[in-house]
Amino acid sequence: MSNRTIQVDDRLYQYILDVSVREPEILHRLREETARLGGIARMQISPEQGQFMALLVELMGANRMLEVGTFTGYSTLACAMALPPDGKIVACDVSREWTDVGQKYWQEAGVAEKIDLRIGPAADTLQQLLNEGQGNAFDAMFIDADKANYDIYYELGLKLVRPGGLIMIDNVLWSGAVANPAEQDPDTQAIRELNRQLHTDNRVTLSLVPIADGLTLARRRI
Ligand code: CA
Repeated sequence: MSNRTIQVDDRLYQYILDVSVREPEILHRLREETARLGGIARMQISPEQGQFMALLVELMGANRMLEVGTFTGYSTLACAMALPPDGKIVACDVSREWTDVGQKYWQEAGVAEKIDLRIGPAADTLQQLLNEGQGNAFDAMFIDADKANYDIYYELGLKLVRPGGLIMIDNVLWSGAVANPAEQDPDTQAIRELNRQLHTDNRVTLSLVPIADGLTLARRRI
């Protein structure tokens, strides 16, 4: 035993899934359909991460959410199911093709009316929400899109999420590449730079949770 974060090998990961994941059947089927898309399915969040985020949504009593990077809509569905009946999630993505996959499941789960899908560059959508006077109007936000624009989404998010609200940022460990100086591709650099900035960003309370590919929780300070 050690006081550092445990290394999760395949056997232990399977154990975590076995004893803790309660993936609803509809989310499981969405995962299976996404898997058939091939390697791109890596862009989908893992079931234990979806369950963790849904728990956070419940804990906060969140009502209005933002999502940047919907892909096939797994995280969207997991969060929408955790929101109250009058909850809303504005889901941003550039791909009609991918989000079409999710829409069927949103309908079937009976949460489609909670999800406001916006197709287009997310930075434009977020700016538009601000222009419409929706600053401070969201309880929580999930950022999981093109890494080069993470800092833009984060800064816009800090204006859209209310004081006390939560910004969740995905893939902050980037398969470990962030800690390897030999990795200098643009995506790795963008994530590394945002991680560095967040460390000293006094506007938020911070935790980097080593779940899945790393999920940073940044709560906007009141
Ligand atoms: Ca991701």
